[in-house]
Amino acid sequence: MTDKTYDVIVVGAGFGGSSCAGLLAKRGLKVLLVEKNPNAGGKAMSISKNGYTHTPWVVIGAPVVGNLYEKVLKELEVEDLAKLIIPGTQGSHYKTSTGQYVRLPPMPTDSQSMDPNLVFDWLEIPNEERENALKFFIELTMMPPEKIHTFHETTFEDWITPYNIPRALYAFLASLIADGLFMGPSDCLDAAEMIESLQDMFLRNGGVFCEGGWGKLAEAYCEAVRRYGSDVIMSARVEEISVEDGQVTGIVTSEGTFKAPIVISNAGLQPTILKLVGEEHFDKSYVNYVKDLVPSWALLGYRYFLSEPVTDAPYGVVFSDDSPWSLERFNKARVGEASREGVLYFEVPSNYDPTAAPEGKQIFMTGSFCPADPHMSKEEYKAWANAGEETLFKAFPQLEAVIEDKHLYTTRHVSNLTRDSVVPGAGGETIGLGQFVGQCGPTKPSIKAPIRGLYIVGTDAGGTGVGTQQAIESGMNVAEVVQRYHLMKKANP
Ligand SMILES: Cc1cc2nc3c(=O)[nH]c(=O)nc-3n(C[C@H](O)[C@H](O)[C@H](O)COP(=O)(O)OP(=O)(O)OC[C@H]3O[C@@H](n4cnc5c(N)ncnc54)[C@H](O)[C@@H]3O)c2cc1C
Repeated sequence: MTDKTYDVIVVGAGFGGSSCAGLLAKRGLKVLLVEKNPNAGGKAMSISKNGYTHTPWVVIGAPVVGNLYEKVLKELEVEDLAKLIIPGTQGSHYKTSTGQYVRLPPMPTDSQSMDPNLVFDWLEIPNEERENALKFFIELTMMPPEKIHTFHETTFEDWITPYNIPRALYAFLASLIADGLFMGPSDCLDAAEMIESLQDMFLRNGGVFCEGGWGKLAEAYCEAVRRYGSDVIMSARVEEISVEDGQVTGIVTSEGTFKAPIVISNAGLQPTILKLVGEEHFDKSYVNYVKDLVPSWALLGYRYFLSEPVTDAPYGVVFSDDSPWSLERFNKARVGEASREGVLYFEVPSNYDPTAAPEGKQIFMTGSFCPADPHMSKEEYKAWANAGEETLFKAFPQLEAVIEDKHLYTTRHVSNLTRDSVVPGAGGETIGLGQFVGQCGPTKPSIKAPIRGLYIVGTDAGGTGVGTQQAIESGMNVAEVVQRYHLMKKANP
């Protein structure tokens, strides 16, 4: 296959790369998709070991209604290859005034959205504060897009503070969405994107999964690439994106070289510009801009393999009024001057997917905050992981006694499986570069890099929403732009 020429080469088969490659192949372009791992899915790939099959860490999809996972499956006509699962319940735990962690009560079964009164009861919100809290909920969920967009460049914290909502409600929103799904503190996250995601969560619900782990979805998108007559090469690392006279010409991989006038990279904006293409091909100002982008923060946690089930909750967050992170507390926690305990995120795949664990056993996965740096010391990883485990054992005291085995995953594993670390402190980020104020909305990194034929796909550019959804939206948007560029070039070579 050496020196074969394509219309487009896509580097990386994460959700962004695989959806984009599938859509372009379906629209008639000759595509090559190259992935360094043996399986597709990147940060949400599936793993299988000792009878357990699952996503390697907590990955909760959203929204339930109108999600893009399904939209792209349908458009690529591969619905037969990936089965989405919607458990319909969740198991978030709040530390109430008694000091006990209490589970969110079940929502009415006929409703796609959360009942605010049940949430207020659970959060012990006093009656006299409910009217204000309800007004906030109504304004949040009914806010039209043109108003939402005025809150780009405002932090979530600055937007929400004037509403003066009860602390417990603030902690719930910050834990579920800010810390939990965007991996950043409220005083860094872009309010407009957060409001959109909260609307999704409350009106279209959260909690979508994929049978056999999320990787099955990306594998289905890859299969579509093949079905539409294009090529996929797995276990081949792209070592270089070749450029001549400011124009992309192809790639060099461990399996040979391939040519194309368009390369779309899912390998991360920073690794693409600074390593695969090389900074010497760009203006200094663009290189400085790319180096300066701040990644989302990260999760680390454990996979616990349990001899017997300890809960029927499929997923949830565990939080208290003190959980929400701020930039200041995080910076202090990093150096041991503040508690590392924050929100804990958990998922129990065997409670929604019967193929996830051997009969009678349970797999319980956790995630809690840590810096995105994939080069932390063993002691630093341990300190962050211990903080998450402490919260876990308080919320699920029965769990410790039934652990048969446990595996720690860290930012090092995330970076190894997905993007290379090319900027100090970056590489192990849970999401990407497009979550924080100044890097969102109109200031989100562009899908078009300043070299002819070079595009960026995935959570760094081109999409909005929770990580998995954001990557696919980016895949759809980049496919549209690239298809048009390809046709225009054909018309005007
Ligand atoms: C611990 C954790 C928890 C998460 N929880 C959630 C959650 O609850 N909900 C949610 O929606 N999202 C969650 N996410 C985020 C979500 O998984 C990601 O945002 C999304 O999957 C990213 O997709 P992507 O296409 O941008 O890139 P990636 O998944 O990073 O894929 C990039 C692909 O490119 C490949 N690649 C990189 N370099 C090369 C190279 N040189 N040659 C060839 N291939 C290369 C990689 O191997 C990888 O397959 C979580 C992520 C992590 C790590």
